[in-house]
Amino acid sequence: MSVNIHINSPNVKYTDTHIVSQYSYQTSSVHRDGNSVTVTPKTTEMTFCTERRVPRLGVMLVGWGGNNGTTVTAAVLANKLGLTWRSKTGLKKANYFGSFLQASTVCLGSGLEGDVNVPFHDLLPMVHPNDIIFDGWDISSLDLGSAMERAQVLDWSLQEQLRPHMSCMKPRPSIYIPEFIAANQESRADNVLMGTMAEQVEQIRADIRDFHQSSGVDKVIVLWTANTERFCDIIPGVNNNAENLLAAIQAGAEVSPSTLFAVASILEGCAYINGSPQNTFVPGVVELAVQRGVFIGGDDFKSGQTKIKSVLVDFLVSTGIKPTSIVSYNHLGNNDGKNLSAPQQFRSKEISKSNVVDDMVQSNPVLYSPGEKPDHCVVIKYVPYVGDSKRAMDEYTSEIMMGGTNTIVLHNTCEDSLLASPIILDLVILTELCQRVTVRPQGEEDFQSFHSVLALLSFLCKAPLVPSGTPVVNAFFRQRACIENILRACLGLPPQNHMLLEHKLQ
Ligand code: NAD
Repeated sequence: MSVNIHINSPNVKYTDTHIVSQYSYQTSSVHRDGNSVTVTPKTTEMTFCTERRVPRLGVMLVGWGGNNGTTVTAAVLANKLGLTWRSKTGLKKANYFGSFLQASTVCLGSGLEGDVNVPFHDLLPMVHPNDIIFDGWDISSLDLGSAMERAQVLDWSLQEQLRPHMSCMKPRPSIYIPEFIAANQESRADNVLMGTMAEQVEQIRADIRDFHQSSGVDKVIVLWTANTERFCDIIPGVNNNAENLLAAIQAGAEVSPSTLFAVASILEGCAYINGSPQNTFVPGVVELAVQRGVFIGGDDFKSGQTKIKSVLVDFLVSTGIKPTSIVSYNHLGNNDGKNLSAPQQFRSKEISKSNVVDDMVQSNPVLYSPGEKPDHCVVIKYVPYVGDSKRAMDEYTSEIMMGGTNTIVLHNTCEDSLLASPIILDLVILTELCQRVTVRPQGEEDFQSFHSVLALLSFLCKAPLVPSGTPVVNAFFRQRACIENILRACLGLPPQNHMLLEHKLQ
């Protein structure tokens, strides 16, 4: 299903190459003096300019041979080929469920037949996932067909159809520094680059250029979906700014593989997204991305338990109920779980999952006094038998009226990689779209891009990376509204206000 949207407004101009919209951005500035608050509405006129030509997009995955890497590649192929297959519950058809761009809708307004909802991806010209060309690296040399079998995610009869297409795909040798991932990963590391750190970064840059040229894509985005690494210390003189980081790479100092990939991508002018929790984006990487005007985004796909948390706590706190204890257990049996069974890698995940309720708690001083937070505990255990089918059990305890207690318990079973794969697609497609949008605030001469730290991706990430000093939003509905309303602004449409006043007056 696909629809053509045309905006009938003097504020929107369609040229052969661009959609140009005049937009009134309305905010309020607030002055607080004790208990007295003065609010001043403010309007800033802006021009949004969106390039209409959709490029051919190439995506390079670090960890291409893993569960996510093979599953997203297989899913795109299956959709492109229109595959169907039989499982024990009947005929299945390839789809993009779980991708908010492909499988969710936005309401444009109402017509004679009531509300008109259109697929999110039709709002603006966007890359279709079927058209993405994949490539990538893995420390394991297994071809993608065999790696898909190793992942044990997709039905066998679908794998049989995909295998001839995927067994010719081979991950490129990667940067492997054993101390960053769990020791239990060593046995799969048979596809690794040799040479100095600087030479390995040069090889990754050459790989990006090689893929760019040989595949005929117009642009490349690089995304880390490899194992979770341990955190890196922020060390003055090593990674605290761009210059020191580049020098540290030359000297072969402590720099993680994910940071090396980020540096290589940025130097090649390719956006880099981090789907795992580690602190890839040390200050030196952020500075380099800003200097070069390249997008970076992350961290850690927001797929299951954390996504529910960012919905549920949003719901509780915004209805005036006070969550006081949130306890989350997981067990999983895939290679991600095996890697996370090592303490340092688990610690990265624990940190990534820990701050997700902060903005919602801080937004409500009626419920929480300054500095007060709910107890929040996360446990992850490796249980090989359950494979990719992750179990998540959560207990939310809240205070309700007059000393009452409300306990909600959830049990969630789901193939992890089938949740993460559509998020990978949304991340790269949204990032690519953002590369074609520029904005000019009134009174300024030049159009500018979004900040290199692409905070718009927060909706898809557990621990959103935002420009230094700007607010981190975790609340699910605010994050989604942010994307929807910015895309609407590109079309000169006001933010979705849900007021439906036309139905509420006599
Ligand atoms: P996986 O272990 O199946 O895949 C990771 C792949 O990365 C493996 O094939 C491994 O050989 C490879 N690898 C490790 N180090 C590498 C390096 N330096 N260079 C290249 N390849 C390397 O794991 P997965 O289930 O695909 O998950 C991938 C990542 O995504 C994990 O860090 C996980 O925590 C994160 N994540 C997953 C989800 C989800 O729902 N699946 C959600 C959030 C985050």
